[in-house]
Amino acid sequence: MNRIRNLIRSFTLSELLNGMRLTGRRFASRKFTVQYPEEKTPQSPRFRGLHALREYPNGEERCIGCKLCEAVCPALAITIDTEEREDGSRRTTRYDIDLFKCVYCGFCEEACPVDAVVETRIFEYAFFERGEQVMTKEMLLEVGRKHEAQIAEDRKPGSLDH
Ligand code: SF4
Ligand code: SF4
Repeated sequence: MNRIRNLIRSFTLSELLNGMRLTGRRFASRKFTVQYPEEKTPQSPRFRGLHALREYPNGEERCIGCKLCEAVCPALAITIDTEEREDGSRRTTRYDIDLFKCVYCGFCEEACPVDAVVETRIFEYAFFERGEQVMTKEMLLEVGRKHEAQIAEDRKPGSLDH
């Protein structure tokens, strides 16, 4: 019985007609498709994308090498080495984030006492060679320098209320 029904459906093109009827019904209705990359959906200030390391306006790096971010990272994605500077302060000599390990949980950002490591709104990036996914300290500082205005704006009091 099923075979006969399927044969009739095939010859009358009923499924095709049903599909075209649905297309016709939706043709003039409101469109929800976003034409990415020309169009982008709105982003929350809480968006957790590519990491950055921030500096103070005088160019001094914020990170004090306390390693809280490294300790809290559930994916063991952060590797930090530190040394004492001549003025007695501590700074990192190595700050790597392996983005293949990272699960973008934001714990590192939450743990940082000086707002040094942050997750930006950047999500359009890709890697083509093995090893490129490890963001070094210089790469992270460069992201921070380039996007400091947006990073600071997103962390203004009140901007995270929504
Ligand atoms: S976002 Fe989470 S997983 Fe990624 S580096 Fe930070 S703490 Fe680790
Ligand atoms: S980024 Fe923040 S939490 Fe991580 S070592 Fe530097 S100061 Fe400490």
